[in-house]
Amino acid sequence: MDKGDVTPLAPGLYVVATPIGNLSDITFRAIEVLQQVDVIACEDTRHTRKLLDHYGLSKPTVSYHEHNEADRAQELLARLTRGERIAVVSDAGTPGISDPGYRVIRAAIGAGVAVFAVPGPAAFVAALAASGLPSDAFAFRGFLPARRGERRSALEAIADSELTEIFYEAPHRLLEALEDIVTTLGAERPVAIARELTKIHEQFFRGPASQVLEQVRARAATKGEIVLLIGKGVRVPAGTAGLSTRFAELAAQGLDEKAAIKQLAKEAGLSRDEVFRELQRRRSR
Ligand code: SAM
Repeated sequence: MDKGDVTPLAPGLYVVATPIGNLSDITFRAIEVLQQVDVIACEDTRHTRKLLDHYGLSKPTVSYHEHNEADRAQELLARLTRGERIAVVSDAGTPGISDPGYRVIRAAIGAGVAVFAVPGPAAFVAALAASGLPSDAFAFRGFLPARRGERRSALEAIADSELTEIFYEAPHRLLEALEDIVTTLGAERPVAIARELTKIHEQFFRGPASQVLEQVRARAATKGEIVLLIGKGVRVPAGTAGLSTRFAELAAQGLDEKAAIKQLAKEAGLSRDEVFRELQRRRSR
């Protein structure tokens, strides 16, 4: 693009998405904006410097992260109200998406400062797009809770979801998270794991939860950045032979009777009593 084509930037706050791995994943407009702003507010100035150096951009940077977000938002706001042009970037992807950015964006809007979106990568969108799971209706829920009890509650809360549910997960917790998915949502629940998107070791695991669990378990260790996607449940029609077959499958996976009935009730959209009675009826035939 000819340099003469670049429109001068209006004063305001620019929310600029940056690559999630591959440095080529940045838009022409993002580069133009970063070239022209007065200062770039970065989550980690050293990290962003590598991106700026890669594109030959020399710009002042200030740090803007989780721990100084509240104070820094006020300083940035003071500069914005004087008519400066400021870009906010995070270490990877879109600022504000499981990353700092929200406070300064809110403060700017509250003060009547113009806020502009400069869209680009977000790991959850890239993961969803290539996952093969339905993308017509989805929910992005940020990081899954680190503690097992809270994680199971979070998973139970989406048991009946009709959406593709998307989470960020740390690599060292992936195995535990998959075990919890099998236990709380069932072995057949469709799952996709997107690992190291846009990087050399990009990899997807797709399939029923128990299969994906086995694939991940077979690896020595799963490293790198992870997006975990869970498709909607497969309902077992009530009153069909499927109920006892599914019960036998769950028992073979090691679930005791109580856990298997709970799981079946969830999958079939029945109460636990209804499942219990139906199984009894079949056994007494
Ligand atoms: N702002 C980022 C975005 O727009 O996606 C997310 C930042 S959040 C602190 C970091 C998490 O995003 C990682 O732990 C991982 O779950 C996910 N993530 C970031 N880059 C990724 C990649 N290249 N592949 C897979 N997941 C990624």
